Amino acid sequence: MPTPAVREYVAALAPEALPAYVYDLAALRAHAAAVRAALPERVELYYAAKANPEPEILTALAPSVTGYEVSSGGELAHVRAAVPHLPLAFGGPGKTPAEIAEALALGVERFHVESEHELHLLAQTGRPADILLRVNLPADPRSLDGVALAMGGRPTPFGLDPDRADACLALLATPRFRHLRLRGIHAHLASGLDADAQLGLAENIVAWAVQRNATEVNIGGGMAVDYSDPAALFDWPRFGTGLARLLDRHPGLILRIEPGRSLTAYCGWYATEALDLKLSHGAAFAVLRGGTHHLRTPAAKSHNQPFTILPDPRWPHPWPRPTIRDTPVTLTGQLCTPKDVLAHQIPCQELRAGDRVIFGLAGAYAWNISHHDFLMHPRPGFHFQR
Ligand SMILES: *Cc1c(COP(=O)(O)O)cnc(C)c1O
Repeated sequence: MPTPAVREYVAALAPEALPAYVYDLAALRAHAAAVRAALPERVELYYAAKANPEPEILTALAPSVTGYEVSSGGELAHVRAAVPHLPLAFGGPGKTPAEIAEALALGVERFHVESEHELHLLAQTGRPADILLRVNLPADPRSLDGVALAMGGRPTPFGLDPDRADACLALLATPRFRHLRLRGIHAHLASGLDADAQLGLAENIVAWAVQRNATEVNIGGGMAVDYSDPAALFDWPRFGTGLARLLDRHPGLILRIEPGRSLTAYCGWYATEALDLKLSHGAAFAVLRGGTHHLRTPAAKSHNQPFTILPDPRWPHPWPRPTIRDTPVTLTGQLCTPKDVLAHQIPCQELRAGDRVIFGLAGAYAWNISHHDFLMHPRPGFHFQR
């Protein structure tokens, strides 16, 4: 599963250089270009920076994206510095007055307004701003069946209920809000959706928005990444065709999407080695260098992180090499907690101490969502292959 370049690179690293995050930026550029090519021209592609804000990643995406979605003052300053020439949309709940002021000073292109209070805070600055109202629209429960995370369609801290959004529209028509330019509607309702489910949501959001004369609709991110089948990519061509049909019915509308995971998950690998192997009450465990303090994704999402074993013939010690064969193995890290599991009971032909293990789909919500300081182990290395 790792690209040949990544496999070769990891094989050549010294054990002390592990764990390491290895990114294949050429693969990322090719993937992002394919996503862009599958979308109609009138669809703007923003990247949700919270998925992975490494400057090298942001820069590699630049040729294929229209802009970036940021969700904090920290992301705002960071992304503006990394890719200064591209537009930013500032979303996220709980924006502070200081963050709003900074966003205005940096000339953010779009504000995603999450509440009436936030609309008042923004209006109070007296500065012009272009805004979208983030609306938590009811979703067809079937469309959210089995999705990984639901940010909308049910009670959440995100966005405005439809009636409160209508109350904001009424406020925006009053003189005190004259300097705020309402551009349209934003909704990010769920994560882990396939193309048809996304298109279903998009239909609903657009229908609601155009009834209110929106000229821009941002339908959010959440395109599925399948951790149990890394080769099963979100069907971008099908999604693009569906969006083109939707746009045909709404001439003049600008549609925007802001995926994170589905853009960058595939370009990153977390590479390490097996330190020890043991049987415990009949079950096989591999203790790896590193763990969920570097790669929290499988713990956060309760899945098995997909991996490839890279056998290493070297064994420098005079005693028998710890080995397991033909048995399911649980891959853990070095943390003193039973929750430090990267993959659970995976059938395995052979794994020996010193063999390399390369976890895939580690390019999004991986290092940057992990609790790095727990147990004070060293940080991984970071390698960007151009
Ligand atoms: C996290 C987030 C995204 C990106 O979601 P993915 O599942 O990574 O595609 C987009 N928009 C908003 C508002 C978000 O919070």
